Amino acid sequence: MKRALTFIFCTLFGGADLGAQSMDSFQIVASFTVVKDWCQVAVNKGVTITCLVPERSELHGFQLSAKDAQKLDRASLIVGMSPDLEPWLATWVKANHREARMTWLSPTSIVSSAENDPHRWTDPQEVVKLLQTLHQALAAASTPGVSPDACERQLAEVRAVDRELAELFRALPAGSRSLITQHPNLGWFARRYGLNIVGTILASGSAEAADPSARHYSNLLAVIRSQRVRVIVTDEGQNEILAQRLAKDAGIPAPVGLSFEYLEPTGQDGNTWASMMRRNSRRLHAALIAP
Ligand SMILES: [Zn+2]
Repeated sequence: MKRALTFIFCTLFGGADLGAQSMDSFQIVASFTVVKDWCQVAVNKGVTITCLVPERSELHGFQLSAKDAQKLDRASLIVGMSPDLEPWLATWVKANHREARMTWLSPTSIVSSAENDPHRWTDPQEVVKLLQTLHQALAAASTPGVSPDACERQLAEVRAVDRELAELFRALPAGSRSLITQHPNLGWFARRYGLNIVGTILASGSAEAADPSARHYSNLLAVIRSQRVRVIVTDEGQNEILAQRLAKDAGIPAPVGLSFEYLEPTGQDGNTWASMMRRNSRRLHAALIAP
């Protein structure tokens, strides 16, 4: 491990590789708002942390602008969630040979796993692992201002969120645990808190995901009826016309819009990973127990 850290340190700071990086400003570029929040909590000051996907924006199908490429060019450290989720970042890193500056919190492909879902940050137990990877990467890159205390507090808060949510969902009756999601993003969350995702409207989160076929639509309707599903979760800010039609055809309440996909702007509820998780969980829980 020590040799690996030394290698990373030399790669980052070795003279020939300095490029446009200035020694007086260490710059972290995070892929999207959740990753940016995690970096901000772990690092005190002396570091510029920017984000590629803006607040309240969809990360699926995101495309890098010329300005984003400039940010990446200057980055001392690039932090992304996973190549499955952010192929636009993986492509840039490969094309520009920045592998040594790139940290994937979830590096191995999990799309083929049982969850078929790269949204690992919706399960706090997974988040602990992702943050441990982040903390190691920050240390390995000799990031200024990294506070071991802040890192410890960060892990403690994640565990506290997990206990709260486990408590919240534990009391749900067995008949109130089923839902349908707009895209496959809550597999990890559902597994952690004992919920059942009985179907998804879209096959992927990509903005280009094709509308479901008539057959898929009628299968969803049948599943809603046979399993007495009362809740359809949509992705806030995304087109929910189909979800609304499905709810209406099934005779169940209108879809509930949640935003596990991004954080809110500074000063608003849901502007940190922890408040985003609490806010979405409260709203989902309220929808599941509604009569
Ligand atoms: Zn998603």
